[in-house]
Amino acid sequence: MTDESMTQPPRPSSVVRHSSYRGRLAPSPTGHLHLGHARTFWTAHGRAREAGGALVLRDEDLDPARSRAEFAAAMLEDLRWLGLDWDEGPDVGGPLAPYTQSERRGLYLDAWSRLVGAGQVYPCACSRRDVARAAEAPHEAGAAGPGVRAAPDDEPHYPGTCRRRAGAVPHAARAPAGLNWRFRVPDGEEIVFEDLNRGRQVFVAGRDFGDFVVWRRDDVPAYQLAVVVDDALMRITEVVRGADLLKSTARQVLLQRALGHPTPAYFHCDLVTDGRGERLAKRHESLSLRALRASGLTPQEVRALFGA
Ligand code: GLU
Repeated sequence: MTDESMTQPPRPSSVVRHSSYRGRLAPSPTGHLHLGHARTFWTAHGRAREAGGALVLRDEDLDPARSRAEFAAAMLEDLRWLGLDWDEGPDVGGPLAPYTQSERRGLYLDAWSRLVGAGQVYPCACSRRDVARAAEAPHEAGAAGPGVRAAPDDEPHYPGTCRRRAGAVPHAARAPAGLNWRFRVPDGEEIVFEDLNRGRQVFVAGRDFGDFVVWRRDDVPAYQLAVVVDDALMRITEVVRGADLLKSTARQVLLQRALGHPTPAYFHCDLVTDGRGERLAKRHESLSLRALRASGLTPQEVRALFGA
């Protein structure tokens, strides 16, 4: 009689990752995930696994007006259904918890205080309308190359109205609430990074984007600040995400430098478009993983739709 336990190596209860690669999936629970998200997350997962690295799932539920707990639960379930897994996250825990942005406010506040102390951000009283009016289009052509449009949620180019005023006002603020806080970009400076999918990217601060918001007037940390803090504290070595965020990467590189954080590697995935060439958005509910699953497709069939 053979005793299997003598001949087979013990099965580890969880897989031990053997490289320093750390990637992340960073969905926002503002709607159901669609095919575009699925393709990006599939790529992120594949790159982490190929590298023998770890994958973190971060719930980017920063915006209380748009995030819903039921979408957060649905996104985890849909990604697992599709065939993805992760090593750290809100549902599985991990050494760098919490993995839910709404529980990380103190970390973002620390970063904001440091930026205030260093004079790199200033308060801005301009309304959304003032900025939109001053920003009418030409800036948005960008340097990202053909086929890359500004992300729909990309902020308009700020003309610098309050930057000029801020020069004279010492920043004694202890809390950010009530005003937008903007990062002062180094006008004319080129931000260059090598994208692992799309090659060399060059953006010029002050031309391709203006002073951007790091803390919102409604007292919510802005996406740019939260993502830089989290990628650094979660020790992310490679960021895989959609090409709509290329310009945001340039902004984030500036924030990383200002906060003394390393810049991870970047891989920006091509965007999935609908039949009319429009980038998929959460309004394309019929292409959500939920709807595709409800229509009877298997995970393999859904993966085949984006070529996996
Ligand atoms: N949470 C963002 C989104 O769902 C992605 C952020 C990122 O990958 O940096 O669009």
